[in-house]
Parts: sequence; C-alpha cells; structure tokens
Amino acid sequence: MDHLYRVATRDDTFHAVQRDGVLLRISGDPFGAYTAGVPVDGGLARVRVLPPVLPSKIVCVGLNYTDHAAEMGKALPAEPLLFMKPSTAVIGTGDVIRLPPGVGQVHHEAELGIVIGRRAHRVPRARALDVVLGFTCVNDVTARDLQQKDVQYTRAKGFDTFAPIGPCVAIDRTDAPRRVEGWVNGERRQASDTGQLIFGLAALIEFVTFVMTLEPGDIISTGTPSGVGPLVGGDVVKVQVEGIGELSNPVEQE
Ligand code: MG
Repeated sequence: MDHLYRVATRDDTFHAVQRDGVLLRISGDPFGAYTAGVPVDGGLARVRVLPPVLPSKIVCVGLNYTDHAAEMGKALPAEPLLFMKPSTAVIGTGDVIRLPPGVGQVHHEAELGIVIGRRAHRVPRARALDVVLGFTCVNDVTARDLQQKDVQYTRAKGFDTFAPIGPCVAIDRTDAPRRVEGWVNGERRQASDTGQLIFGLAALIEFVTFVMTLEPGDIISTGTPSGVGPLVGGDVVKVQVEGIGELSNPVEQE
C-alpha cells in the first residue's frame, strides 16, 4: 500500500509516495492519476514532512465512541454530531501545538481521518468509499474548558495549531477496523479501534455530503475514544493509527 507524503527540501515542495521502504517523487495529480518516479535522495530522513494534504475544511464528528460519550457524561447522539475545524489550524507531524494563554485545559483527541479523493456531494452509503483517497491520523486538539463554556465548538476547536494531521495518507479504500491510539510522553492514554465507531465510515460520508460538498483533500475526522486528557508545555503527544503511522507533536505553552 502506498503512503502519500507531502515533503519539502531546501528548494522544493512536492508529493511523494513511500513504497516498499523507498520514497519516490510522484508526477501527476496526487488525487488522480500519478506515477511514482525517482527515489528521493536520503528518503524521509532527509526531507521535512509537511501536512500530507491542505484541506479546505475538516469536518469532525463528536461523541462517536460509546466510551468517550460516557467519560464526557453525555448521551449518545441519535445522528452524527458535526462541527468543523478551520484550515488555518492545520499543522504537520513534528510541528508545535501552541497552548494559548488563559484558556484552561487543552486536551488531545486521537482520531482516524478520512481523506477525500474527489469532489463529493450527496454520496449514498453504498458508494461512499469510492470518494475516499485514503486515511490519516488526526489530533482533534480541544480547549476543553472553552468547549464546556460555549454552546458552539468553533472557538474550542479552532485555534491555530489545533489540527495536527499526518504524517501521510495511507492510500486505501476499505473500512476494515484500524487501531487508534493516543500517547503522551511515551505513555498510552487512548486505545480503541474504528470497529467501535457508533457511526461508521460510509455512514459518515453519506451524512456529511448530504449537507456539504467535500473537495479533494478535505477530511472527515471520525471521533475519539475514551482517555482524552490535558496537555501541558513540554509534552510530546502522538496519535497512532494502524496502517498509517505516527503523528507526533511537541507542545508549548504560549
Ligand atoms: Mg474529536
């Protein structure tokens, strides 16, 4: 399976695929037809890994694992609960999550992200996986105290650096269950798998695209399992999703 990266060298930014342990620069459209060409000198160790896509929007699903709804003391929603994170919150692996001053607790939320591969509007569940490019890791960083204070989630979820994604897109269109884990300073805090989702991947694509058109590179973040908790300056937080890899971000207090 290809892993699609977007990388920067000293004088260039481009997409590349990791295939059989070799990083290959691609030519063509990462969302359409591309061919993998020359190996990148030195591979991933010699490039800066950027967010793998630049989403126009990230549509997030709240309370989509039963155990997380229980830890938040909330009833299970009858329909997916949607909110959005702005594109300006996106950072890549290795980039710093900045905790704004005076906002109270900020939590990590390890999630599987569905990356859309082509423009999608009113996609029926039976064909939903056709519009998928692949999957990535998302950390739905949340200012928890503000979320509890505000009715809307926009402020709590929308700070700059609150949407780490990556490190790559695993190019795959199956909805086979994947393990999702959240780690802080080498300690595992969250562990579940997407087989436990209340609303599954195809159902979410149908539900979201009934409302809004999704563009190539847009992400549906599928919700977090239990074990969310606070981040403080100096932490390193990691999201691991089976078959994708590890999204790792240092945390700094502003
Ligand atoms: Mg979340």
